[in-house]
Amino acid sequence: MRPSPLYLEPRLEPRLRSLLETTDFLHTLVDALGSPLNLLLPDQIADNLARFRAVYRKHHLTGRIYYAHKANRSSALVRRLAADAGPDTAPDAGTVAGTAAGLDAASLGELQHALGAGLTPERIMATGPKSREFLWLAARTGATVHLDSRTELDDLADLVRKHALPRVPVMPRLSGFRSPGVTVLTRPSRFGSPVGELDDLLDALERHRDAVELTGVAYHLDTTGVAEKAVALEACIRVMDDCHRRGLHPRTIDIGGGFGVNYLADAAQWERYTTALTEAVLGRRPALTWQGHGYGLRNESGTLRGALGLYPAHRAIAAEAYLDELLSQRAPTLGRPLATLLLENMYDLAVEPGRALVDQCGATLARVLEVRRGPAGERMVRLEMNARDAALEDHGVLMDPVLIPRSAAPAAPDQPVGVHLLGNLCLEADLITRRLVHLPRLPAPGDLLAFANTAGYLMDFNAGGPILQPVARKVAAYRQDGAWHWRLDEQYWPLDTTGATTQQGDGRE
Ligand SMILES: *Cc1c(COP(=O)(O)O)cnc(C)c1O
Repeated sequence: MRPSPLYLEPRLEPRLRSLLETTDFLHTLVDALGSPLNLLLPDQIADNLARFRAVYRKHHLTGRIYYAHKANRSSALVRRLAADAGPDTAPDAGTVAGTAAGLDAASLGELQHALGAGLTPERIMATGPKSREFLWLAARTGATVHLDSRTELDDLADLVRKHALPRVPVMPRLSGFRSPGVTVLTRPSRFGSPVGELDDLLDALERHRDAVELTGVAYHLDTTGVAEKAVALEACIRVMDDCHRRGLHPRTIDIGGGFGVNYLADAAQWERYTTALTEAVLGRRPALTWQGHGYGLRNESGTLRGALGLYPAHRAIAAEAYLDELLSQRAPTLGRPLATLLLENMYDLAVEPGRALVDQCGATLARVLEVRRGPAGERMVRLEMNARDAALEDHGVLMDPVLIPRSAAPAAPDQPVGVHLLGNLCLEADLITRRLVHLPRLPAPGDLLAFANTAGYLMDFNAGGPILQPVARKVAAYRQDGAWHWRLDEQYWPLDTTGATTQQGDGRE
């Protein structure tokens, strides 16, 4: 009996779906610019911003949305973000409008990139541990500095005095939040200052008052747990109170990123797949992965051990819906919804979504080079890309690629097939995914496979390096006057696609 194909079909929203349906356009692009090729949809980031803003509006909150740049190196995305004029002026926007989108720069290079793309310093947050040069440029221009540690605060104050820089807006990044009960564990972080040592930090902030101005407090927790984040957010509200008692007047609570993305169209496929994977690890069905890899699960004499080390690829609540859920949580000790506490205190809410803000903003195309049988008769498809070009495995994201045939008359019949996707490095480990991928039919050399939704960390976070394989070029694609257009990423400026033409130009029609 042939088991039915275990598809993991990617979630495709209309803009990305429409682009992936332009078969000839995509083949022309790869013919001209090579494989792999990264596609970016800058207008989608504007839609994603609008969705986050709708959650702010729902909770009557104000504050800035900062794109965490490290999710993607694209210039087109940053320039499109820079062109963002703030929330629309629809009548229902009322008084809770908010402000133009900002950017979270985690390195000197990202800060330079943001400034060069047209983001003004009040829209930029400098985060992460910093070099002196990074601190200097942030301070020189007037970007807000997330203080990663006490030492960083001292260094910054020193720089400001020594170089007669203007007073720098700062927000300490806090960590080590303690839950009131034993039910929520907050994991330790190597970033930020422990809330337990807050008094010292506030003393230092008071001492350095001539050089820095405390404008808010921040955290970023790399977790999907809403309860853990509710503990952190409530702790920040209490810290804000402490600050005000000391005569410091921060206004903003920055709750970082980590809102997540739903990668898969169908929750049932995810359930089915992970169940089947478990069965395969236990030897109750044929392997679903290269050499029986278990993604963290293992079989110890018939007992399942370990934990699935995968991104939860189907997430019912992700991105702006996750923010909504967090804001609707009751504060663990104060007992009222977190959004209400923010509103009553008139605190601004800042968020720093990376992955979630570039959801549906890109795809990675690769050409099929060869289709053959492997040592055990399995189907092998070799692609003109390597495992770093769509770092699905490194980030534990499972999704099927979309087949974009070269010719209208396919070489193989429509017959579902399981294939292994090999990369172009001469490494045994260079598998695009260790998973047996099910496709609706066998691809042929010259066809393209499109990995959807790769803009967040998957397309260029790991790319580049070995054996002089070229790094994928990036192309910004946008719809205008009913047709798709493209620019090399570095040639894209948001002149034609924003402003007056947005309505008909964004593919929403
Ligand atoms: C990486 C990072 C983010 C973005 O995280 P996502 O999971 O991509 O939303 C936000 N803030 C800081 C400080 C980060 O390091």
